[in-house]
Amino acid sequence: MLWARVALAAFVFAWLFDVSGLRWVVPLWLPFLVALGLEITWFVDAWRALPAEERDRAPQLVDLERYGERELEDDEWPVQDVPAAARPIRRLLVGAGVVAALAAVVWLVEKNSGWNGVDPDEREAAVARFSDEASQIVGRRVEIRCDERGRFVGVVQDADGVAEVGGRLAYLTPSRCYDLFRLVHDAHSSSGRTGRAIAVLAHESWHLRGVADEGVTECYAFQSGVALGRRLGLDEATARRLMREQLVENAQRARDAPQYVVPSECRDGGQLDLDQRSSEFP
Ligand SMILES: [Zn+2]
Repeated sequence: MLWARVALAAFVFAWLFDVSGLRWVVPLWLPFLVALGLEITWFVDAWRALPAEERDRAPQLVDLERYGERELEDDEWPVQDVPAAARPIRRLLVGAGVVAALAAVVWLVEKNSGWNGVDPDEREAAVARFSDEASQIVGRRVEIRCDERGRFVGVVQDADGVAEVGGRLAYLTPSRCYDLFRLVHDAHSSSGRTGRAIAVLAHESWHLRGVADEGVTECYAFQSGVALGRRLGLDEATARRLMREQLVENAQRARDAPQYVVPSECRDGGQLDLDQRSSEFP
């Protein structure tokens, strides 16, 4: 039982810090549901294992108050004066309490941190900036919004964003918006995340420009990402390094998301090279 609670806590913290992109792989509610299910299963099993007379002698609230306050070791438990039925009930209450406490932690942290914690005026200004940058890549006026719930029929749905191919509106996940915000607003850059966020903004922009193929879109995004990164405040060398890292990471997606892997023509001098004169790539 303890292992499941520890596992849930470990998951919650990994999720909050988005360890290895966990947020977009596992929905948050799933482990909570599993943990609650385990607690209830254990309770039902323990309850059924009780002798019938013990079940009838279910504990009064006063028993739970007396013995529910602290963790008792098995041999410490005063077997004589507590109905056996108190133990599974107490465990269920503790389990449900742990699940509820972890849910409260997630709710509090999410409400006050990341993109949701940014001042609304600053969020609006940042989104206008993202839209300007995307419009530069597309070559006409487009709009970027930050909302993970933006799902529409007939759009290409990526893990980090959504865009209508050839359309005028794209959504980025709040987490990517926050990474871009930190780059623009605080000049904060942490290589992997910042590079990914730049690539995602460029990626959705290329969808808006009319490219549907995910691999081709990625290829163009890494190339546009160099200039985009510079406009967002990075120096040339850093912007280029981040996009090269993205290209390397892209090859590692062959197993989980092969449609995103760039085609073989995505190389210096290849058909997908946007700047044939330059020998830099991306
Ligand atoms: Zn895409």
